[in-house]
Amino acid sequence: MSLVDLRSDLLAGPTPEMIEAMIATARVPSSYGPREDQHVRELEALTAQTLGTEDALFFPTCTMANQAALMVHCRPGDFIIAETESHVAEFEAASTAGVSNVAVLRVTGVHGHLSPVQLAEVLDRSEDEAMRVSMVSLENTHNRAGGTVMPEGWQQQIESACRARGIAIHLDGARLWNAAAYAKCDPLALVRGADSVAVSLNKALGAPLGAMLCGSKAFIRNASRVRQMLGGNWRPAGIVAAPALVALKTMQKRIVDDHANARHLGTALASEHPWLSIDFDSLQTNIVLVKLRTKQMNAARLTKRLSEMGVLVVAYGDQYVRLVIYSGIGQDQIGKVLTAFSEISRTLTADYLAGS
Ligand SMILES: *Cc1c(COP(=O)(O)O)cnc(C)c1O
Repeated sequence: MSLVDLRSDLLAGPTPEMIEAMIATARVPSSYGPREDQHVRELEALTAQTLGTEDALFFPTCTMANQAALMVHCRPGDFIIAETESHVAEFEAASTAGVSNVAVLRVTGVHGHLSPVQLAEVLDRSEDEAMRVSMVSLENTHNRAGGTVMPEGWQQQIESACRARGIAIHLDGARLWNAAAYAKCDPLALVRGADSVAVSLNKALGAPLGAMLCGSKAFIRNASRVRQMLGGNWRPAGIVAAPALVALKTMQKRIVDDHANARHLGTALASEHPWLSIDFDSLQTNIVLVKLRTKQMNAARLTKRLSEMGVLVVAYGDQYVRLVIYSGIGQDQIGKVLTAFSEISRTLTADYLAGS
């Protein structure tokens, strides 16, 4: 039984061209310094150019890239402002507190995004309470809210509020590529105004692993020092930089297909099964959040029953399951998922008739 694994877009595997690049790189002698390798240098230069920043630095994970940004922008005991369910506040909470020594002022945004009005309120409050806020963290697309894109114009307004107070803006753009595909714009348009941006090379683009942190030359000099502190000066890294370079060059334009597939899956599920619902306002990119509307089924049970049929999803709390679309998921896989849901639908009715 072949699995359809929709647990995360980090599962998007490398293309044959990326694998070729890895093999070719493995055959040539390695280089010594962390920024010496030709593929690493090319990857850093192309990322900086793609995002319109002065410089870029290659990281093993986006978590480490985010934390390095925090450590450059903040001093221990400082506050950052971040959306309640953002990756930095929620999934990196232990690193944000324990590694970067930064406290988070959490604000629950609109579909995952902090509005300029909310930001102004929390900035006023932090001044009243003598908190030192040194950074605002933005996340585009917002993972937990279902891959939602920041509304146009918000980042600019947030930027002017932050500039006036000398507060840095970091953009966690693990899925910036998806945001750009949705907004039909150049990714650099979504970075403008931020002091730093982290992007994943793995999610959406399908590089085997890796992330980039981008910003000014001075910022990257500091980030490079912090990366070393965190044990992230990985080398020789050519074997991972080479496929990442292919990913960056070839995979951006196909992301719209993932979004179309996600919408197709969501639409089919919502129209066929009255026991679930989907908020189409937040189904913008590649993440489908399915909400359960029946007492006969909770997220843990649905996850288990789907896995028995070879479909892997993630439960979010008791009421939601998350299905993530990426390059390896096409019509065949989506067909399998729909069949599995229909199968469950039938047993739901049978259970219901049996009075259970
Ligand atoms: C996945 C993710 C990260 C972390 O990426 P890793 O490479 O797994 O550390 C950071 N931010 C967001 C929004 C993510 O979705």
